[in-house]
Amino acid sequence: MMMIMNIGSTTEKSNSMTQRPAVLITGASTGIGATYAERFARRGHDLVLVARNVARMEALASRLRQETGVVIDIVQADLTQTSDLARVESRLRDDARIGILVNNAGTAIGGSFLEQGVDDMTRLVALNATVLVRLASAIAPRLATAGDGAIVNISSVVGLIPEFGSTVYGATKAFVLFLSQGLAHELGPKGVYVQAVLPAATRTEIWDHAGVDVNTMGNVMEVADLVDAALVGFDRREPVTIPPLHDASQWDALDGARKAIIGSFGNAQPAERYRTPV
Ligand code: NAP
Repeated sequence: MMMIMNIGSTTEKSNSMTQRPAVLITGASTGIGATYAERFARRGHDLVLVARNVARMEALASRLRQETGVVIDIVQADLTQTSDLARVESRLRDDARIGILVNNAGTAIGGSFLEQGVDDMTRLVALNATVLVRLASAIAPRLATAGDGAIVNISSVVGLIPEFGSTVYGATKAFVLFLSQGLAHELGPKGVYVQAVLPAATRTEIWDHAGVDVNTMGNVMEVADLVDAALVGFDRREPVTIPPLHDASQWDALDGARKAIIGSFGNAQPAERYRTPV
């Protein structure tokens, strides 16, 4: 089930006034996505908000339209449903006003790997990983042809922490980081900026979905601080932005070690340690 509604004045009027690309944000009904919507609206970008809860998006859109005057379209879509997802893909392919995609929608499930149901895991992988690929694939050719635009993918520091005990969620977030780095490598030279954002614990409803009371946790970032920091990284055209990491040289060392090992993979013979059977 999906509805598309126009809220606000005409597209031509807004774009001629702002000259800024429209931004399509998935998961824009609450949390990090709703905060991105607010910040991009305040920067004068028209918006396309995508999520399931249309009442929440309507409330956000009418407030932002009143406060900022930007044009806001609402697309009600369950991104795990093929037909809804296909319509968002079409919008990204065909609507030349959209120059920025924020791939933010995502969720978490509670419990250990042994406790989680495989159908829940499959839906998690679909929403947190497959959807991002499909939406990036829908917009990337148009952006590459234009030689302009941006794709922002929301990953997580959990994607760097197999020890966290959130294996499938973390695996989707590692996927998103890799996807972003690969896309930056492929699309960057064509003028398309790709950013991976890695939040740590941030105060949103996602913790309720994972069965965790966020108020019992320490070191939780407020969502406004997270998005404002991520946008500083966006404005600097950082490929990977990790707002909670204070010492940026630690990421540089990790990524540098990854790059350093690449030159050691090109050997036709197995390593000496594997030549002696146990
Ligand atoms: P949130 O408050 O739970 O918001 C998730 C958003 O995704 C909502 O707008 C929700 O809207 C939408 N969504 C969920 N399922 C959907 C579906 N099937 N189809 C379409 N939209 C759907 O979570 P958040 O913390 O803002 O999370 C945003 C992103 O940040 C996620 O990718 C998450 O993994 C990542 N992240 C969060 C944290 C954190 O601590 N909060 C840390 C690291 C990374 P509807 O329910 O209206 O559909």
